[in-house]
Amino acid sequence: MQDPLKLHCRRPPSPSYLSPRRLEPVLNSTKAVSLVAITLILATSACDAAPASTGSDAVAHPTQCALLRGGGQHDVDPEDTPEKPWPHRRDGAEVIVGFETGGLSGRYEKLVREAASIWSVSPCIQAIAVEECKAGGNCVFVEERFSARDRGTDGEFRGRGAGPFRTGGTITLYTGLLDRSSDNGALATVVHEMGHALGLVHRGNRETVMNAETDDKTNAVPDAVDFTNLVVIYGAPAAAPSG
Ligand SMILES: [Zn+2]
Repeated sequence: MQDPLKLHCRRPPSPSYLSPRRLEPVLNSTKAVSLVAITLILATSACDAAPASTGSDAVAHPTQCALLRGGGQHDVDPEDTPEKPWPHRRDGAEVIVGFETGGLSGRYEKLVREAASIWSVSPCIQAIAVEECKAGGNCVFVEERFSARDRGTDGEFRGRGAGPFRTGGTITLYTGLLDRSSDNGALATVVHEMGHALGLVHRGNRETVMNAETDDKTNAVPDAVDFTNLVVIYGAPAAAPSG
């Protein structure tokens, strides 16, 4: 069963931020349009900005895959489609998820390794880059393609699931855009797609890596809210109050 395709978007650059290199593909096809028109085209694409939100950022980094109290995830974008978790037992143990890098070129293989170690800070998740997915394991295929149908999309995740759980999926990295991103910007995209693969949906807070849009200046490292949301998804239930 295929889950809906989840596109990830580059933030439309502001006019002062537009550089000739970034404009090149657009100018090649529509030489006559002005900078204002280009900005409008980018801003009205399928990559429209998600609603801004300050979110609920006052949570601590979790140290155990267990809920301290009940409650749902923080700062979730209500417009995003749901994701599924990998099978888990809610016993506090880490869920191991592989990301297949065998088909990737050097830069993107390295970024997937880096993103996997970033998510593995979670007490609930051990994300590992693997040369090839083994049958029966939790594993996501990662592929490179040159371009996306939508020029503003540099990555997407398509999950597979059976019933309530994720059974696999594919992350597609669109190198037409990513090759022109900084290493930090490209890492943010890989971390973002991996977040979906682990079960996270978009955040409302525009500063965070799980917002629907990121750019070269986005902090590619998830924050305490992202790690707390993973505990909500995978963690052992909060202990009943004694007495
Ligand atoms: Zn996304």
